[in-house]
Amino acid sequence: MRHYPALVEQFDLIIIGAGSGNSVLTEDFDGWKVAVVEREVFGGTCLNRGCIPSKMFIYPASIVETIRTAGPLGVDAHVDSVRWSEIVDRVFGRIDPIAAGGEDYRRSLDNVTVFSEDARFVGHKQVQVGDQVITADTIVLAAGARPRIPDVPGLNEVPFHTSATIMRIPAPPRRLAILGGGFIAVEMGHVFQAVGSEVTIINRSKLLLRAHDQEIAERFTDVFGQRFTLRCGETPSQVRNDGDEIVIDFADGESVVADALLVATGRIPNGEQLGVKETGVELDASGYVVVDEHQRTGVDGIWALGDISNPMQLKHTANAETRAVAHNIHHPDDLQVVNYSGAPSAVFTHPQIATVGKTERELEAEGVAYIAHTQPYGATAYGWAMEDEHGFCKVIADPETRLLLGAHIIGHEASLLIQQLVLGYRFGLTVDEMARGPLYVHPALSEVVEQALLEL
Ligand SMILES: Cc1cc2nc3c(=O)[nH]c(=O)nc-3n(C[C@H](O)[C@H](O)[C@H](O)COP(=O)(O)OP(=O)(O)OC[C@H]3O[C@@H](n4cnc5c(N)ncnc54)[C@H](O)[C@@H]3O)c2cc1C
Repeated sequence: MRHYPALVEQFDLIIIGAGSGNSVLTEDFDGWKVAVVEREVFGGTCLNRGCIPSKMFIYPASIVETIRTAGPLGVDAHVDSVRWSEIVDRVFGRIDPIAAGGEDYRRSLDNVTVFSEDARFVGHKQVQVGDQVITADTIVLAAGARPRIPDVPGLNEVPFHTSATIMRIPAPPRRLAILGGGFIAVEMGHVFQAVGSEVTIINRSKLLLRAHDQEIAERFTDVFGQRFTLRCGETPSQVRNDGDEIVIDFADGESVVADALLVATGRIPNGEQLGVKETGVELDASGYVVVDEHQRTGVDGIWALGDISNPMQLKHTANAETRAVAHNIHHPDDLQVVNYSGAPSAVFTHPQIATVGKTERELEAEGVAYIAHTQPYGATAYGWAMEDEHGFCKVIADPETRLLLGAHIIGHEASLLIQQLVLGYRFGLTVDEMARGPLYVHPALSEVVEQALLEL
């Protein structure tokens, strides 16, 4: 029989997860009695172990890679050393105080109680935090996602890292093995190879970043194959320790030997772990909390946002959902809908990748007619300046309406180049309006976008 503590403290609002969830608390909640439950540090994944620190490592890594590949431009340069521990100190010396400051600020507010506990639902709108149970009419589920650990024999008996820990290691390993071929695997591979590790990427699928546009995934796998040892299309049969080494065995009798192992095989939402079914909240087949277009779960007064409910698992979509939830709680008769149209994403490797809208594969599966054009960076003046051999911009449009259906870029600053296409996509411009309406800076790299659109 389950034991319920006698005292159940009543709040007006409970927020579970102080990543994006912490930003729900606008001044509109000043008169509310609020509980914020956070089992780790404030700021969540993005600030502490995701977007921000990873890009703070990637920036110097990309400088190293730029130097390493400067030869064809007539520049003979080399990197003397990378001061890893100084980079770690700089990154977390900036981030950790922000996380601590965020928590201190919340704790200083009279109307907010912070629980540094693991939350778990134990009944309808009843949340166990430590040895206490709290309740509220309004609850926001913002507990995010966590690394998925694959079922590989022996994995649990060896020490391994995930993205949550690898960025704080005291020194780069001499040999790093990475399990996975998604954006975290390749971004961290880029970082550690640049700072001196020998990186081997082991990926079940034949292509890295396989969910991306097929041509991009192929080009990327090709480029990374020249930089890293890739074991693509392979699954380890077991992982084991051999003294200080980690050995990853394959069915063909071959092995990868490493000094450290990073497991980066995706992220699973935390709804089940949070016990949301105890309060009647439904999970979909992949474990995401089911929400409607206003971020409402099926239980009146319970809302969800971010990675716990959105398979896109992106910070900018979590932010948009946070703004919608903050508004919708106060405006039941004027509910906002999050508009995901044109939600872009990027991979910050060297080269970068950025994408908006659909891939050709998705359009084909949906039976949607399209036209596409792929324009190489090397066809533009700036691409000549860079001696670029790999970058391209692919644009896909509806042949009738001439509206953009998707755009996929691989190459230098793809994450910036995509933004002009995001605007056109979002605001319903035809590819002709996008190409011929604005003037493009000459001879900037953005001309690759102009040329791609003109060719459609
Ligand atoms: C390495 C890495 C790089 C990334 N890079 C990018 C990027 O470049 N761009 C991008 O858009 N996105 C990126 N992301 C994804 C992005 O970080 C997430 O989409 C975003 O942080 C999700 O925010 P959230 O508020 O939903 O969850 P989180 O930020 O994860 O917040 C959830 C919080 O809930 C807490 N929590 C969980 N369960 C409980 C519980 N039971 N009780 C109490 N507290 C709980 C957690 O400790 C956490 O603090 C990256 C992610 C990773 C891992």
